[in-house]
Amino acid sequence: MTDPILKFKNQVAIVTGSSSGIGKACAVHLASLGAKVVVNYSSNEEEGKKTLDEILAAGGEAILVQADVSHEEEVKALFNQTISHFGRLDILVSNAGLQKDAPFLEMTLQQWQKVIDVNLTGQFLCCREAARQFVLQEENVEEPQHSELAVGKIILMSSVHDVIPWAGHVNYAASKGGIMMFMKSISQELAPHKIRVNSVSPGAIKTPINKEVWSDPEKYKDLLQLIPYKRIGTPQDVAKAVAWLASDDSDYVNGETLYIDGGMTLYPEFADNG
Ligand code: NAP
Repeated sequence: MTDPILKFKNQVAIVTGSSSGIGKACAVHLASLGAKVVVNYSSNEEEGKKTLDEILAAGGEAILVQADVSHEEEVKALFNQTISHFGRLDILVSNAGLQKDAPFLEMTLQQWQKVIDVNLTGQFLCCREAARQFVLQEENVEEPQHSELAVGKIILMSSVHDVIPWAGHVNYAASKGGIMMFMKSISQELAPHKIRVNSVSPGAIKTPINKEVWSDPEKYKDLLQLIPYKRIGTPQDVAKAVAWLASDDSDYVNGETLYIDGGMTLYPEFADNG
């Protein structure tokens, strides 16, 4: 029996956008389960270093790599640094994302483009590099293990807004809706290579991205109306689900979206018959 505490022993994981929030929790949690983790940030080196230090202080293994996921050359460099340091890749958590909110009538092309570039194109670039690496590793295996288990796992960070329309945030909702079909399509295409691809779609999770809502008592009260479970989610709620999707425990799960939202997608406004 494998040690359940170190279920990712000898596995290497890249977590994009792990200098903050959900990505940070994923990096710390995967490292606590034995993974060697590549912590990635785009602009906030100080916060990236905090994630790295937290992993190292707990006895884990990690490196810190700067890369903007919307730039092809930086993504290639992120993967090259991973392989040159750790020698392989087993897990990609494609998490980096942002919001640039504006009413539709006022939304600039720049606001639209930035969100699509990071949230959608960034995930394309990272997933493509990961898939190429997984295929390469399989081709170069000297003695194939003939294992039935996946040789590479990709988890994309989506959002409940891949199904819930979101006025005032159409760039964000469009990017996450795009992630849904992107994920399903590459999952179909990569499954014969024994690469599993799934998404997690968080609801409201307490991170800097939505601080404006949870730090204001009135807005927080309104938010809870949208959550049948009556609490905001934590980054750790998402990290545990990501770890399950990255593990062999979910080996037959492919092309799925797991909603981690306290029931936000259950049409809570209909709870009292509308
Ligand atoms: P967050 O605390 O603001 O963290 C965002 C992370 O993404 C940071 O580490 C940031 O690094 C990184 N990032 C931003 N642009 C990047 C780029 N171009 N290249 C590489 N990294 C970049 O936000 P979060 O709430 O944890 O969100 C993480 C993911 O979860 C996003 O995809 C978001 O859409 C999704 N999500 C969040 C919620 C929620 O309620 N919090 C709900 C649903 C989905 P730097 O600071 O260094 O730029």
